Amino acid sequence: MPVLSSLSVLSPLSVLSVCVVCALRGPGAIEAPPPLAVLPLTVAVARVDGAPVVDRVWIDDRVEQANAILAPTGVQVALAEVRAMPEGPAALEDRKDRDALGAHLRPRRVNIFVVASLRDVDEPERLRQGVHWRPRRARQRHLVIVAAYSGRDTLAHELGHFLGNPRHSHTPGNLMSYGRGPGLPTLDAAQVRTIRATARRMLRSRELVVAPPVSP
Ligand SMILES: [Zn+2]
Repeated sequence: MPVLSSLSVLSPLSVLSVCVVCALRGPGAIEAPPPLAVLPLTVAVARVDGAPVVDRVWIDDRVEQANAILAPTGVQVALAEVRAMPEGPAALEDRKDRDALGAHLRPRRVNIFVVASLRDVDEPERLRQGVHWRPRRARQRHLVIVAAYSGRDTLAHELGHFLGNPRHSHTPGNLMSYGRGPGLPTLDAAQVRTIRATARRMLRSRELVVAPPVSP
């Protein structure tokens, strides 16, 4: 069963394939709505001692997992670019470190930053796996930060925030919950509607554009 191409950009056919997987997911699965859009990701990777904190296999795996989880929404993501993170710490310690990334956003793409570590800004003794962040002096901008040690579902969870779901769920196994369940994390009907509506709004406003089709 084809899941996702490892090519940097997905074709519409790949999206359809993923939705078929979703439809077969089993009891409780939401019937897949029609494909809506493939959103372009730009991924900036921090370096430690000159070496990127994650490799391309790691990135492709997280993108593939995000697309499998997001399949019930008809919204998919595709890598448009992988680049080295601009100057700045690889270990993000505070709000200032997160805010600084706001100066390095690519327009019309979902901006992802992969860092060596990400400290909780409210409980400094804790490290976070990921965060959806709005720089304090530019709240209209937003970005996703994930740590190199984060799990397979973290990118998808943060994309769930990025795409209009600010709150966490109390349902174990839900993508927006901290409680894990068997199999792929799920989305409820309201979350699916929100993600679709948010993607539409972001495309309408040109905050995002659809990912370009894959070249033959
Ligand atoms: Zn969260």
